[in-house]
Amino acid sequence: MITDIQHNLDAIRGRIRQAALRAGRDPLAVRLVAVSKKVEPLRIEQAVAAGQTVFGENYMQEAREKISLVRGAVHWHFIGHLQSKKAKDAALLFDLVHTVDRFKLAQALDKHACLADRVLPVLVQVNVGGEAQKEGVAPEQAEELLLAMQHFTNLQVAGLMTMPPYVSDPEEVRPLFRKLREMAEGFAARGYFGPGQGFELSMGMSGDFEVAVEEGATLVRVGTALFGPRL
Ligand SMILES: *Cc1c(COP(=O)(O)O)cnc(C)c1O
Repeated sequence: MITDIQHNLDAIRGRIRQAALRAGRDPLAVRLVAVSKKVEPLRIEQAVAAGQTVFGENYMQEAREKISLVRGAVHWHFIGHLQSKKAKDAALLFDLVHTVDRFKLAQALDKHACLADRVLPVLVQVNVGGEAQKEGVAPEQAEELLLAMQHFTNLQVAGLMTMPPYVSDPEEVRPLFRKLREMAEGFAARGYFGPGQGFELSMGMSGDFEVAVEEGATLVRVGTALFGPRL
C-alpha cells in the first residue's frame, strides 16, 4: 500500500533532487530532516517504513516519549528552542542539536555530553534576518560564540542553522539563505568547523526548501509537506 506519507516523501525527495541539480549540486549532499513535532509515533513509523531515517523534534518532553516508542533505526535531531536546564536530555537523546545560540547553553550541553562520555554534534543558530524576538545569535556575534565554543571538548560544531521569517514568496528569503552560506564559508575557512572542508547548513522548511537547497542547504527541515498540517 502506498501511504500518503510515502507519496509525500517521494515528492519532496524529487523536489530536493531537482533543486540540487539546478544549482549544480550533488543531490546526495542534501539530507531531509522530517519534522515530526505533534506527529504520533505510528505516522513516524510509516515514514520510517518509507525509508526516512532522520527526524526533527521541537519539544523535549514530547520527544522523550516518542523516541522511546518509535521502532526502527532512526536518528533524532533537536530543532526547537532549547533551555539550558534541558541540556541533559538533549545530550542524551539526540544525534544533532540545531539550535545552539548562546554561550550558557553551549556550556551546559558540553558538560552533559562529557558526563555521557560522548561528543555531541551541534549547529549554531543564526538570526540572519536580524528580527527582534527571534531565536538565534545575531550575525555580528556569531564568530564570538564560535570562538568561545572552541574550548568545549565534548561539542563538535558542525555548521550553522537559520529560521527566517515566514513569507509567502520564498524568493524573499533567498538572500538570507545566501548570507548564512557565506557566513559558514568564512567560518569554515577560519577553521571553526574543525579539520576537513565540509560543514552543515540547516535551512529551508516546507515553504522554501527548494530555494534553500539552491543556496547550499545540507539539511532541510520539512514537516507540513510530509505529514500534512499540524493540528
Ligand atoms: C516546525 C519547524 C519546521 C518545519 O516547518 P514546516 O513548515 O511544517 O515544514 C522546521 N524547522 C523548525 C525549526 C521548526 O520549528
